[in-house]
Amino acid sequence: MSFDYDLFVIGAGSGGVRAARMSAGYGARVGVAEEFRVGGTCVIRGCVPKKLFVYASHYAELFEEAAGFGWRVGAPEFNWPTLLANKDAEIDRLNSIYIKNLEASGVEILPHRAELVDAQTVRVDGRELSAERILIAVGATPFIPDIPGRAHAITSNEAFHLDALPPSITIVGGGYIAVEFAGIFNGLGVETTLVYRGDEILRGFDDEVRAHVHAEMVKKGVTIKTQTDIVEIAQSGNVYEVSFSDGSRAGTGLVMYATGRVPNTAGLGLENAGVKLGAGGEVPVDDHSQTNIASVYAVGDVTARAQLTPVAIREGAAFAETVYNNNPSTVDHSIIPTAVFSQPPIGTVGMTEAEARAATQAGEGVDIYAAVFRPMKHTLSGSAEKTLMKLIVCRETDKVLGLHIVGPDSGEMIQAFGVAVTMGATKAQFDATIAVHPTAAEELVTFKQPRG
Ligand code: NDP
Repeated sequence: MSFDYDLFVIGAGSGGVRAARMSAGYGARVGVAEEFRVGGTCVIRGCVPKKLFVYASHYAELFEEAAGFGWRVGAPEFNWPTLLANKDAEIDRLNSIYIKNLEASGVEILPHRAELVDAQTVRVDGRELSAERILIAVGATPFIPDIPGRAHAITSNEAFHLDALPPSITIVGGGYIAVEFAGIFNGLGVETTLVYRGDEILRGFDDEVRAHVHAEMVKKGVTIKTQTDIVEIAQSGNVYEVSFSDGSRAGTGLVMYATGRVPNTAGLGLENAGVKLGAGGEVPVDDHSQTNIASVYAVGDVTARAQLTPVAIREGAAFAETVYNNNPSTVDHSIIPTAVFSQPPIGTVGMTEAEARAATQAGEGVDIYAAVFRPMKHTLSGSAEKTLMKLIVCRETDKVLGLHIVGPDSGEMIQAFGVAVTMGATKAQFDATIAVHPTAAEELVTFKQPRG
């Protein structure tokens, strides 16, 4: 049987684009449908514009800190429309690069929504197209819990396009997006409150990291309310009246939800192909990203393995290697270096202390090396920000099981230290590495005594 395409990819985000380009490079005839903009969440309304906003918001502190180094700057002024316009221009630039790269690889872009008709047919813009294989790479979308007044709330999608900055904002959630946007809005001068339902923000991260980031965010002026949730939002003029689970109420200029992202599978027609969905709407796949239906594969956020761009890219690449280059490849999801661009940022790889204790003998099998210190820059800057560095080492094997940093440039550091930890480096090998002085990261190769 002949098909219109060897591979039809639904979704031109990080995972879909990588899979499409590589598969085309290996000789497959590839079509990719995208209903919004080529580039996906990361490029269009995620990692990239977020990081640009983080840079923008950080200048407030930098201007203040400059005085200690002898600089006198006039009263700084911030212009939100300028940031938006420059950010949008950069996103447009990246979007056109993604389009060019896809076209240069020989991939046909169909700028429409696609839905499955059956396991080897998609419907795009009223046409039915056949493909030997279909790759689902539709990503995920922000989720807002069903509370009265939820329509008044925005998500990160809208945060990238606000007409004006509100005087105050209430952000719900305690994960990556909530803490990153709390830092952004706070830095841009918006009175910021973070509301989190649990005991401590950033569940899943090392407990010391969580407490440290919480304390530093509060020092910078963010109000954090834990064990609290919003139960209702009402609008009154320019103000949103928010009712909290503890019975209190407050007025706020904007409410933003960052309460997780759900797979974009609604209305995709997966049931027409017999593809099973998980309880959260995700597409379960095997190690080779194949669904329960042989001709249908899925990569990226829609599979809910790890909602991270570099992971989606690896999954897309492994798919292309396996299916179109006769080189069966899998992605190791067990160790993923990651950064949270909070202020200060977090870099982390490997186990938390609690995980490492649980994984070693009777919880006694780890040594903890940790330091909390004022980075050198802040000896003159006047900032009270503290850096945290933490190593978790297996007593039996001397392997570094986890490495956690909270402080400037920790995302950059964790990329480099992530290589060592992924390779299974030991504490002795860290110690054998000559320190780079004066840096903050040298702390990680000069730890002498474990914590008692
Ligand atoms: P997360 O899953 O990280 O965090 C969701 C937060 O919302 C948690 O604190 C969760 O609480 C809370 N929550 C969930 N449901 C509710 C509810 N019904 N009511 C109140 N609170 C709720 O999701 P994000 O939206 O922050 O980000 C989505 C994903 O995107 C992340 O998991 C991450 O993988 C990725 N991402 C990565 C970034 C990076 O690499 N720097 C940046 C941004 C996003 P609880 O802890 O109690 O479950």
